[in-house]
Amino acid sequence: MSQDKPVPTISHKTLLIVVALAALHPAFADSFVVGEIEASRGHQASGYLAVPPGVDDGTKIPITIVHGTGNGPVLALIAGTHGYEYPGITALQRVRKSLDPGEVSGTIIMVHVANLPSFLGRTIYNSPVDGKNLNRMYPGDPDGSVSQRIAHLVTSEVIDKADYLIDLHAGDGNEALRPFVYMPVTGDKALDEASKGLAMAFGLDHIVIDEAPLRSREDSLYTDQTALVRGIPAITTETGQMGLNDDYWVDMAQGGILNVLRHLEMIPGDEKINEGATWLTDYEVIRSPHTGIFRAEVRDGYHIAKGGKLGVLLDFFGDEIEEIRAPFSGIVNYVIATPPVSEGEPLAMISQIQTQYSDK
Ligand SMILES: [Zn+2]
Repeated sequence: MSQDKPVPTISHKTLLIVVALAALHPAFADSFVVGEIEASRGHQASGYLAVPPGVDDGTKIPITIVHGTGNGPVLALIAGTHGYEYPGITALQRVRKSLDPGEVSGTIIMVHVANLPSFLGRTIYNSPVDGKNLNRMYPGDPDGSVSQRIAHLVTSEVIDKADYLIDLHAGDGNEALRPFVYMPVTGDKALDEASKGLAMAFGLDHIVIDEAPLRSREDSLYTDQTALVRGIPAITTETGQMGLNDDYWVDMAQGGILNVLRHLEMIPGDEKINEGATWLTDYEVIRSPHTGIFRAEVRDGYHIAKGGKLGVLLDFFGDEIEEIRAPFSGIVNYVIATPPVSEGEPLAMISQIQTQYSDK
């Protein structure tokens, strides 16, 4: 490197351009727009993002924008990606009522129910319209079937406008689940630190380290990956199980959201520090080798030894087909707790306890 190059200084003109560019950030604008929904500074607005008809019927996505009085980041909170996972949906309704935009710094985009066809159709995993899993459809396709069109609109209208993202899930209608957060670790230090901040602030005591490699922008598949590939810190939370929507689960999701808002200094108050989280790693989803009936012999949160029995697969007469055993010793994050199962579908998710994560 040459020694006699002048040290660059920032001129007033450059500074003005930087300030002007910062002002272009949507959170600093006088109003914040998602589709045809517009919230002016210091206000909140709710409305529907229309998913136009295409190869199949259209739908709509209920959205609230809270555009705070103060400056701050844009946080996207997405519920109802899977329509049978209710606590996140109910928690967002409560948070919407509890927030005073005058006390909010930055902007919150709430997607109340991303997958209305699945919610109204009471389906687990997949849309009743096109049979697709919305959380495998990103970044979506405006010319695709309804799940792809939903993903396209959530990507372009919500994720593209966000600085942070939380995808709020629960155990699905058939899943007995011990609450946890998926914390992505991509290898990008700044991004990973920011995602870890969200994961800790959400306050659950089980954090699953998700080392899935960063996917491409064109094939991001998952909500969180769609954010991460854009450099947006993201987590996926799991609070609830078996289609339940009682206060125990809703409070957990609501408490997590509010503490993340404190963590990001978007609402007043000190962040509650998450002490004593258990770090879980190398998770594996054990899939069914046959179609039939699954009879679980563990519950959510059990600690199981390598080779321990997770459950038994039965045929439709009740005769045993196969025992399902744990491939390694670990924690049962969730287990299928209703009878029907098709070949290839999940039976359980287990992960290993890692004690040293914080020292990495
Ligand atoms: Zn889900």
